[in-house]
Amino acid sequence: MMIASLPKIIAKPLTRISPSRFLSLKNCPLRELLTANGKRDPLLPGSPSAKIGTLIHNLIEDTSKGFIRNEEEMLEKWEMKISEIEHTMRKSSLENRFIPLRIHAHNYDVKKESCFALIRNLIGFKQYSGKALGLTKSEVWVESPDKQVGGFIDLVRQSSSGIHIVDFKSGTVFDEQWGIVKLEYVLQLRMYAALYYKKFKVWPARASVIGLDCYEKDVDFIPDECILLIEQAISLLRDINEKLLLGQNQALANPTPNSCRYCGFRPACDKYWETKSEHPLWPIDVRGFISEIKPSNNGKLTLKIRDMDSFFTIRGLDNTIDDIPKIGAKFSIYNLGRDTVPGCFYATNYTVGYGHN
Ligand code: SF4
Repeated sequence: MMIASLPKIIAKPLTRISPSRFLSLKNCPLRELLTANGKRDPLLPGSPSAKIGTLIHNLIEDTSKGFIRNEEEMLEKWEMKISEIEHTMRKSSLENRFIPLRIHAHNYDVKKESCFALIRNLIGFKQYSGKALGLTKSEVWVESPDKQVGGFIDLVRQSSSGIHIVDFKSGTVFDEQWGIVKLEYVLQLRMYAALYYKKFKVWPARASVIGLDCYEKDVDFIPDECILLIEQAISLLRDINEKLLLGQNQALANPTPNSCRYCGFRPACDKYWETKSEHPLWPIDVRGFISEIKPSNNGKLTLKIRDMDSFFTIRGLDNTIDDIPKIGAKFSIYNLGRDTVPGCFYATNYTVGYGHN
């Protein structure tokens, strides 16, 4: 388990909203402010699978731009990008434990093969549709006139029925629970349609998303509603930046199990700690004062933490006693597993601890 002192995290105003981040921004503005500024590394390890997702999106983008034209270039790029990602991870005490990615990323081989299938399709489509004729453009930048909402459309096709905008996804496009296209993708496509109109003065005739399984699904849109989304995004941006300037950072935090589970800034988020409960949907994190540190027979440590009237036991820490802050120190520990006995937890490969000064 990595243990560190909790740093101070400062959020900075946003200059622009990307359609791809609009729903996340609505769900928890603070998380997006901390993530989008990108200056500050998260305080918890990211999932190795998410890294593969980003890699896949990069490869699709490279194919759209014409940097990947055949099988050989595709295989070469995959290996090159994997080794670049692992090189960066090696320098991170939070993430070096997840190397090699082919072992730690869930369904690595399946995702790789699906990515290759999609790229082969894309290469075939580009050859067929004749990029030389100017019928397909990739990575088309669109933005609102005030530049407050903007982003790249993955692919813009010109067909006899009009403009067709396409967005590629590195996973499935469907919401598992409802079996329909994920809301974030629907909103994203509708915003792109409006931004395309604002930039080129013509509405796309069609908008679709293509998932890693090569399945293409159309997203319907009504122009007035798309314009409204852009106006909502601009007003959201203004509202968030005003709150930030007034120093109301915690008013921008909106803790929910779904948002917080994937947030790497939980250690620095007071509102998260005020809101979270022991309900199984919330992340399994514990905070309090160290009351006991005990070596176990298996060579690992067991830690006892007290928080007001609650007592927690965490077993399986592969640290030395010197790593752990002293008895009485405030300490928080993240990404635990839950034992069957109430109040008892165990360390996982994702567990990280922070001492609070
Ligand atoms: S921990 Fe939750 S509430 Fe806090 S910034 Fe992250 S997602 Fe938002």
